[in-house]
Amino acid sequence: MKQFRNTVIRAGLEALYLSGAHVLLRPILSGVGAIFMLHHVRPRRDGAFQPNRHLEITPEFLRVMLAHLRAQGIDIVTLDEVHQRLVERNFSRRFACFTFDDGYRDNRDFALPVLREFDAACAVFVVSDFAEGKGWPWWIALEMAIARASSVEVAIGGTATRINTASAAAKQAAFDRLHERLRSLPEHDLQREVRALCARHGVDESAICRELCMSWYELKAFAANPLVTIGAHSITHCNLAHQCEALASKELTQGRALIEAAIGRPVLHLAYPYGDRGAAGPREFALARTAGYKTAVTTRPGMIFPESAEHPTALPRVSLNGNYQDARILPVLTSGAATAMWNGFRRVDAA
Ligand SMILES: [Zn+2]
Repeated sequence: MKQFRNTVIRAGLEALYLSGAHVLLRPILSGVGAIFMLHHVRPRRDGAFQPNRHLEITPEFLRVMLAHLRAQGIDIVTLDEVHQRLVERNFSRRFACFTFDDGYRDNRDFALPVLREFDAACAVFVVSDFAEGKGWPWWIALEMAIARASSVEVAIGGTATRINTASAAAKQAAFDRLHERLRSLPEHDLQREVRALCARHGVDESAICRELCMSWYELKAFAANPLVTIGAHSITHCNLAHQCEALASKELTQGRALIEAAIGRPVLHLAYPYGDRGAAGPREFALARTAGYKTAVTTRPGMIFPESAEHPTALPRVSLNGNYQDARILPVLTSGAATAMWNGFRRVDAA
């Protein structure tokens, strides 16, 4: 299903590019700006099995993107500036904002040097457990377990099932199947399943954060860079919509308090973990507002329109997806045609 969706998106992007339709559509679709969503920025890795590759782009692609935006005369702004422009209804110039989820160390080591070349600001959304070294991005643990196994055993619907993971294609199919299933589970069942899988296949899940995510100590120095805004991304990276209201609220307030204490400055912006319709809806948008965040971003695809000012805690983003690192799609992404097509040409999606 995911592969099918990727194929459809890619075909759509290419059709838009090749037809030139994005240029014709631009005046009605482009909106006033875009908030780009990134995760990892790092050099391309070898290996046929990279199921999380959509979550990473290369420093070169980031550079091409920034050069494209600068050439278009688009302002590259902070989240504070996005918020201010929305509040003041100041849409005289188009803007782009770069946001990075999860707090990976490669943001500092590979993205920041490129951003610096263009004097471009960014925001990094930190999961407090990841910074603490006690949480773990389970989708990476799943990748590591499948990568090293020729078959994995999981309990599906209460029955132990063995899934072949011998070839790269089989690994990808197993990853897609398990990822979708795990995402639908309650938090502690998900944790239990992935922990069991890690134990069975010799993956040290506790090492993943230490290896990939910035620690509190590193974040303090990183946050001092004037180009960097640190935002919150919950305590545990759980699906907030799966939690009771009290727990969801705690994820938003306590996670932020821990980050503020560590970096010594206020945290005013939030990214919802997963951030799609199944993980962030009207209840979460209201909780973020009550918690006092100035903005909160989702992973719903879309450009920013003047109407977005009424929904600052339900802002859409445009994913810079590692599967589409082709300079030809940049005009399509910044025209808003791709996300508009996805949204059935609705401008605001905050329900
Ligand atoms: Zn995340």
